[in-house]
Amino acid sequence: MSTVITRKADTATPLVSVARVSQIYDKGAAGSLTVLENVDLDLRPGEIVGLLGRSGSGKSTLLRAIAGLVRPSKGTISFAGSPLVGPTAGIAVVFQSFALFPWLTVLQNVELGLEAQGVLPAERRKSALAAIDLIGLDGFESAYPKELSGGMRQRVGLARALVVHPRVLLMDEPFSALDVLTAETLRTGLIDLWTEGRMPIESILMVTHNIEEAVLMCDRILIFGSNPGRIIAEIRVDMPQPRNRLDPAFRTLVEDIYARMTARTGAPTRDGHFPGTGIGISLPDISTNLLAGLIEAVAAEPYRGKADLPPLAAELHLEIDDLFPVAETLQLLRFAELEGGDIKLTAPGLRFAGGDVDERKRLFAQHLAIYVPLAAHIRRVLDERPSHQAPARRFRDELEDHMSEDYADTTLKAVITWARYAEYFAYDENADLFTLENPS
Ligand code: ADP
Ligand code: MG
Repeated sequence: MSTVITRKADTATPLVSVARVSQIYDKGAAGSLTVLENVDLDLRPGEIVGLLGRSGSGKSTLLRAIAGLVRPSKGTISFAGSPLVGPTAGIAVVFQSFALFPWLTVLQNVELGLEAQGVLPAERRKSALAAIDLIGLDGFESAYPKELSGGMRQRVGLARALVVHPRVLLMDEPFSALDVLTAETLRTGLIDLWTEGRMPIESILMVTHNIEEAVLMCDRILIFGSNPGRIIAEIRVDMPQPRNRLDPAFRTLVEDIYARMTARTGAPTRDGHFPGTGIGISLPDISTNLLAGLIEAVAAEPYRGKADLPPLAAELHLEIDDLFPVAETLQLLRFAELEGGDIKLTAPGLRFAGGDVDERKRLFAQHLAIYVPLAAHIRRVLDERPSHQAPARRFRDELEDHMSEDYADTTLKAVITWARYAEYFAYDENADLFTLENPS
């Protein structure tokens, strides 16, 4: 491969240029939802840029806009100096889970991208085999997707993106659906190909919510804030590749980014990092075991109510990125406060830690009623109805006025998990029905 990649990222003209892009969804009677606000971003040849942010902050929306799949409401996106009007062969995308055609072999799946471009069969085969070889799939050419592991399927996705020789590769959380070891193998494999100049692309933009992944792979990290999605900080990562997660400089940078992401944004009407307002706040489906576990750990020695999250994560054998949403949920529920990478239990949080089962449930129900408008809303409807029952479908529809279908589904799951624990209301899965089990 004779691709020469210039590493003078600063001086080169941008490959992709995003200028003052906003994305606003019309919610009919519910008003409008600003998902992206005034986003500026340049992607230059020779760099891997990470877009790091909480879930729901608009990362995928931005990536889809750059891929030409959605048209931004405001602002412009250009590719190689020309305005982008739709998908282009110069920009390829890899999603979290790749839609492979089950009835086609690996080779046929990879060839597909070229077929769309009108490349002749013999040429197609040659390029597809080269991409398959590059991405470590040789031997699997004639396998069908169902015979492949998740990691291998994701490799097919990568090969299919690279076979068309795009100049820019966009990746949306490409490793987040894989197990830890497989994800790491794919990450380091990709970085090796990149640093050796063997990947025929000029630049990578990748979306992630995983701080360590961003520090491991990227030359530049753009931290994305929520409500609405916008770039709040830019961090250059100067460590040479391959990077070592245990390197003190690596750890320091992870903790620094972590602190920036947990810093109070100072928006009084919008709490924490959960997108949306009122019943439309998007919730993460975090188990009450994890929530109670974190409260207990922070309440216990040596922390006694206040802890620095990174060492706490290490002690709990959790990645900081897994602990993050748990801590944020405690903040949403006002059992804890987050500031500069620290978590501090509130008075009710401390009471929860010292309480017995019934006391904990009572406290949890009280906080659901006050701080989770959706839970209070469902409870109110159940209280008002003589039957004390309501189909979940109704609330799912209501939520979809505020957020995408995926987020609505997760949000409803979260509220069900929490309400069941607190015995605030019940949910019958078979009937997809909310009920008050013991209406009084
Ligand atoms: P991320 O990738 O950072 O998790 P997304 O870009 O998927 O975030 O979504 C950002 C927000 O925009 C979410 O609150 C989501 O519910 C909302 N959203 C995304 N697509 C749509 C859509 N087509 N209609 C309404 N809301 C949407
Ligand atoms: Mg996303």
